[in-house]
Amino acid sequence: MTNKFQNPSSKQKKMQELLADSEHPRQEKTLVLIKPDAVKRGLVGEILKRFENRGLKIIGLKLVHGNKKDFDRHYPRSKEWIANLGKRTIETYKKYDYSLKNDFGSENPFKIGKIFRNWLIDFMASGPIAKVLIEGVHAVDVVRKITGDTQPHFALTGTIRGDFSVDSAGSANKDKRAVHNLIHASGNKEEARNEIMLWFEPDEVCDYKRAEESI
Ligand code: UDP
Ligand code: MG
Repeated sequence: MTNKFQNPSSKQKKMQELLADSEHPRQEKTLVLIKPDAVKRGLVGEILKRFENRGLKIIGLKLVHGNKKDFDRHYPRSKEWIANLGKRTIETYKKYDYSLKNDFGSENPFKIGKIFRNWLIDFMASGPIAKVLIEGVHAVDVVRKITGDTQPHFALTGTIRGDFSVDSAGSANKDKRAVHNLIHASGNKEEARNEIMLWFEPDEVCDYKRAEESI
């Protein structure tokens, strides 16, 4: 895979410039992927509405059906990220007194994380997603807040995950699949930068002012 940051093409340079713009909190950008479960449930409009209502600006939007390679690139491959995914599963198992050995044949966070990552990639490639580029004041944190907890059964009512899903890691693990939680939202500014570079080309990004910005 080419490294977009070390050997950027002219298109990628343009994208880097666009993202380097983010000094002011108002120009912060983040990536949302509306996952296949949400698209299939006809929730795209409802989800976009929540971001727009809050005053965030949609500057890129497209429906795409990604393949497994796309999502293998999207989700980090580092040992640390994978083990962390496994650790979260282990916590869930402890909380509900389930047997890791029965479901994963191992108690090792990295091994469990790897199984999990594959489930996640299969799920994300299982149908179309909407890729959304969002800009606005502290966009990364605000979008995460509107999105809610990773596990919908923990997510507060009023958040997207808390209002439209009751899925949980406990339930998903028993079915050997990823949690269906409707949305991916970048976790921090660095994640956002990498993910936007991965999913958007410069000509897919629109620069405009929302009405209230011109008043
Ligand atoms: N995931 C899962 N079970 C878990 C933790 C995560 O299926 O116990 C899936 C879920 O779809 C989640 C994705 O892995 O959205 C990425 O995990 P992360 O911890 O980054 O959660 P997010 O940032 O999406 O809240
Ligand atoms: Mg995440």
